[in-house]
This record gives sequence, structure tokens and C-alpha cells, in this order.
Amino acid sequence: MIPAPFDYARAGSVEEAISLLGSDPDAKVLAGGHSLLPAMRLRIARPSMLVDIGRIADLSYVREDGDRIAIGALTRHHDVANAEVLQQLCPIVAHAAGQIGDPQVRHMGTIGGSVAHGDPAGDLPSVLLALDAGFVAQGPTGTRTVAATGFFTSLFETALAPDEVLTEIRVPKATAGWSFMKFQRRAQDWAVVGVSAVRANGGVHVGLTNMGLTPLRAVGVEEAVGGGADPASAAARADEGTAPPDDAFGSAEYRRQLVKVLVRRALEEALP
Ligand SMILES: Cc1cc2nc3c(=O)[nH]c(=O)nc-3n(C[C@H](O)[C@H](O)[C@H](O)COP(=O)(O)OP(=O)(O)OC[C@H]3O[C@@H](n4cnc5c(N)ncnc54)[C@H](O)[C@@H]3O)c2cc1C
Repeated sequence: MIPAPFDYARAGSVEEAISLLGSDPDAKVLAGGHSLLPAMRLRIARPSMLVDIGRIADLSYVREDGDRIAIGALTRHHDVANAEVLQQLCPIVAHAAGQIGDPQVRHMGTIGGSVAHGDPAGDLPSVLLALDAGFVAQGPTGTRTVAATGFFTSLFETALAPDEVLTEIRVPKATAGWSFMKFQRRAQDWAVVGVSAVRANGGVHVGLTNMGLTPLRAVGVEEAVGGGADPASAAARADEGTAPPDDAFGSAEYRRQLVKVLVRRALEEALP
């Protein structure tokens, strides 16, 4: 289908983007366009104006910053996957970015777009949730950092205000043990279910993709591992608190079974 009519403005800076967003309550940021434009073609999204931030070069970087790694929101999935600093210091992020879609999607889609879109089926949001990442948002009154745990509020909804631009994703160094499991029907598909496990603070953090309205943490599994349970016993709690979709790619019941299998495998890989 053809999108509904919209205006277009290219922002030369984050400040200009914020000002343009403030001038029209129905305006939306355009980054890589690989989620927003398909939604507009289906008329699920009908922004009155697109504020294109795609050429703000200083929003694309990956660098070490103290005990964290800072990733500019406009960094393309391909560049995240190939960033040496991530491969060495937070490999799960580089690995997961390399599993997104196909080369064309990875060369256009951005990490900030993945986060801001808030799609529970996205690969990176649940990885970032497991890592306790921080999301830096800039708006008309300044900059704030939102913890990943409070960022994803509902289906395609996040804590970002309409006139805020996500500028940076901050992840901890995490080399102790990790696993990323993406179960898909065909190579390059979206995940039917995805699982991320990261060792942290003597325990493990587990993120789930496509198991509810938002990316989720498998809190029951984390508690069980913290209490000394083995991977199989801990994984039996993987569907606690989830509400998986029931669609052409798998029933809710299938996903509940699948997530337990994937969590067990992820724990076996991530834990010593
Ligand atoms: C064929 C295909 C296959 C795909 N496969 C996968 C897959 O396997 N796994 C996966 O995770 N994803 C997949 N994707 C989605 C892809 O990763 C998208 O690139 C990503 O979800 C959105 O990034 P974007 O830069 O394209 O954002 P856009 O589409 O430009 O924007 C998405 C949303 O985020 C908002 N936004 C974007 N950037 C910002 C910002 N900096 N600040 C505030 N708001 C912002 C926009 O306003 C919009 O609402 C696929 C997409 C396609 C087309």
C-alpha cells in the first residue's frame, strides 16, 4: 500500500530534530526506516511529518567510556556487529546485531531505531534488557538516562516522549559468560522466540524476545539460578509472567514450551 500523505524534514542536528518534533505533535523520527516505513505502508503508522535524523553523523559511534560502552543511536546493525570494542568487551550485543534480518536490513537499520520502536519481537531490545543497559534521551529541557527495565512500557510503546530523541545506548562490559538463542523458521526470519542470558553479579540475567507485549526479563529463572537451581530446573520457570502471542509462526502454547528449551540451552552455555 501507499503511505498516507506526510511532510518531510531533514534535521542537521539533534537540537534541530527536537525543535521539529516540538512543532508537530504527530511528527516522528525517521532513522533507518526499516520498521517505520513498512508500518506507514500498511497505514498502521500515519505520522504527519517525518523528521529524518539519518545523516546526523555524530550519532554513529561505538566507544569505551569508563566501565561502559557507549553506542550512538544511529549506529547501523552492521557496524554494531563489527565493532571490535563490542566483540571484545560486550560480545552478546555484537553477536545479536549480526543475527538481525539480512545484510540490507543490517546496513540500514539502527540500534536506536530498534530500541525506540519497542517491538517485542526485536532481537536487540531483550539483549539490552538482560544487560541492564541505559538509554540516553535528549529533549527540549535536556538529557536523561532511562534504565532498560523501565523503558519498554507496552506494545510498540516506550518511555520516550514524542519530542525526545534517543541519542545513546550504554551497556556494561560483559565478558563473563553469555548466550544468545534465536529460534527462527527460516534463516534471516524474525525470532519465533529469542533468549539472551548474561552472567552478572554472581547470577544471571535473562531477556526474552517475543514472549509478551514488551521484551521481558525471565525473573523466575533468575531467582532460581540465584537460589542454586540447575539449568533444567531453572528453565522450567521460563514462561512465568509471560503472555506469548498466538500467530502463524507459533501458538502461545508452543512458545511456552520453546522458551523453556531455549532458556535451558542458554543457561548451559552462559554459566560455568
Ligand atoms: C525485512 C526486514 C527484516 C527484519 N528482521 C529483523 C530481525 O530479524 N530482527 C530485528 O530485531 N529486527 C528486524 N527488522 C527491523 C530492523 O532491525 C529495523 O531496522 C529496526 O527495528 C528499526 O530501526 P530503524 O533504524 O530502521 O528505525 P526506523 O524504522 O527509522 O524507526 C522505528 C521507530 O523508532 C523511532 N526512532 C528511530 N530512531 C529514533 C531515535 N534515535 N530517537 C527516537 N525515536 C526513534 C521512529 O520514530 C519509529 O517510530 C527487520 C526489518 C525488515 C524490513
